[in-house]
Amino acid sequence: PLMFFGTTNLDLCFNVERLPTPGESLMGALTRHPGGKGANQAVAAARLGLKPHFYTYLGDDDAGQSLLKSLMEAGVRTEAITVCAGEVSGLAVVMVADDGSNMIVIDPGANSKVGPDMIESATKFIERDAIVVAEMGMPIPALNRLFEMKREKGFELIFNPAPVRPGLPSAAWRNVDFVTPNQTEAFELTGIEVCDFESAARAAEKLLDLGPGAALITLGAQGAYYADCTGSFSLRAFPVKVVDTTAAGDAFNGAFAASLAQRLPLKEAVRKALAVAALCVTRRGAQSSMPTAQAVDEFLQS
Ligand code: ADP
Repeated sequence: PLMFFGTTNLDLCFNVERLPTPGESLMGALTRHPGGKGANQAVAAARLGLKPHFYTYLGDDDAGQSLLKSLMEAGVRTEAITVCAGEVSGLAVVMVADDGSNMIVIDPGANSKVGPDMIESATKFIERDAIVVAEMGMPIPALNRLFEMKREKGFELIFNPAPVRPGLPSAAWRNVDFVTPNQTEAFELTGIEVCDFESAARAAEKLLDLGPGAALITLGAQGAYYADCTGSFSLRAFPVKVVDTTAAGDAFNGAFAASLAQRLPLKEAVRKALAVAALCVTRRGAQSSMPTAQAVDEFLQS
């Protein structure tokens, strides 16, 4: 059993020649696609053939309907999803310039309505051998309750601290089994600039001091670094031709969780996550760029 907790957004993406300056109007090409870190992660796992549950809040608007439909079509189990009366769905306006730089504004909408009591009822039926994944877009009190439930229920908890926000009680970290920041998030959490495996090792030490069982830092095109109290290892990223790095971290987290749920040994799980994320960056888009199990197997054999 595999369950994701997190945000769902409709992404409105403008491709522009360059980012606008204050007061300026620019022309751009608009595309709409489903997004939100939690949703992307759940879809990544579903594409790999698992049947993950996803816990999120949607608005009772057209966007919510189409987001729900795309999750179902991807193979995500949506029974735990709540459609909030009178709320709008999470919406992100993204501008991407030709040089790859971007600007993003998010209205969390229904995502901001998740409360601690709802988390308590959602986790009631989670079994001990379940893998639970949470990102940091959920309201902090709800996230904290999820971490407390881990202590009661004993499931395995992967925490992707993205985007890093203040307010999580320091005791909460001890309930985390794996914390999975990227370089920026690792810096925000530890103050250590992560630019290579050596600095990742120092950041991982500091992350472990916070209390999680293990730290797994992703370093973009360089790969990933893992450490727990018994040891550490690093694995290089697969060299690929990069088209669009959107949702690379989500692909990595979704695939890592899926691999643990399939009981792959730890190092194999990280390697599979690197392969899934590598394939993700060779394709445009977020959820649409998540590879199938077959594509990943072929990639690993080639
Ligand atoms: P985020 O997308 O959250 O910023 P990263 O940039 O660390 O996270 O990327 C996550 C993972 O995606 C990396 O660990 C790596 O496996 C894969 N990845 C990202 N960029 C590349 C790249 N240029 N080439 C190969 N793999 C990549």
